[in-house]
Amino acid sequence: MIEEKGILFVLSGPSGVGKGTVRKELFAHDTDLRYSISMTTRDIRPGETNGVDYFYKTNEEFEALIEQNQLLEYAKYVNNYYGTPRKYVEETLAAGHDVFLEIEVQGALQVKENFPEGVFIFLFPPSLEELKNRIVSRGTESQDLVLNRLKEARKEIEMMDAYDYVVVNDRVEHAVAKVQSIIQSEHCKRERIERQYKQLLEDDRK
Ligand code: 5GP
Repeated sequence: MIEEKGILFVLSGPSGVGKGTVRKELFAHDTDLRYSISMTTRDIRPGETNGVDYFYKTNEEFEALIEQNQLLEYAKYVNNYYGTPRKYVEETLAAGHDVFLEIEVQGALQVKENFPEGVFIFLFPPSLEELKNRIVSRGTESQDLVLNRLKEARKEIEMMDAYDYVVVNDRVEHAVAKVQSIIQSEHCKRERIERQYKQLLEDDRK
C-alpha cells in the first residue's frame, strides 16, 4: 500500500482579482480536490449556506478558535475575520487527499510558514498584463496615469514573491485550465513519484 500525503494548493492574490470565481469554476468540474471551507465573522450573503460557503462565526467564537490554536491561518479583511480550520486540512492531507485553499494574501503567507511544501499560486490581474503591453507599445496615456498605475503594479508584484506559480486571470476558463495543469504537474514531480516507489519497494521487503 503506497501511503502518500495529499498536496496543499493555495490560491491567493490581490483583492478583486477573481479568486472566488476561479475557485468555483474549478470545483464545478470533476475534481479530486477537497476544498477547505473557511470560517468567517462576516454576515451570510443571500444564496450562501452555512457549512458550504463558510462556517459563520461570531467574533467571540472566532477569537476562541484563535486562542485554541484551531486555525492554520487567519486574517482580518474589511473588518471581518477569515480563517482556515487546521484540523480539516491536516487530516485530509494525511488521508492522502489534495486540499485547496482560496484565501487572501496575508493568510497565504502564514500558510507558507507552516506548510512550506504547499504549492502557492498567485492569481494575477489582467490589468497588469495590459499595463505591460501598453508600456511596451508606448501607449498614448498621460504620464501621470501611467506613473500611478506603475506604483500600484509595483505593490502587487511585490506580493508575488512567496509564490510558486503565477496565473493571469484574463479569462476564467483559461485561468482554471492553468490551475488544473499546475495540479497535474505537481503530481508528476520526480521527487514525489520516487518517494512512492521507494516506499513500495521498502514495504515489499517486509
Ligand atoms: P468574501 O467575503 O468575498 O467571501 O471573501 C473576502 C476575501 O477573504 C477573499 O479574498 C477570500 O479569498 C478571503 N478568504 C476567504 N476565506 C479565507 C480564509 O480562510 N483565510 C483568509 N486569510 N482569507 C480568506
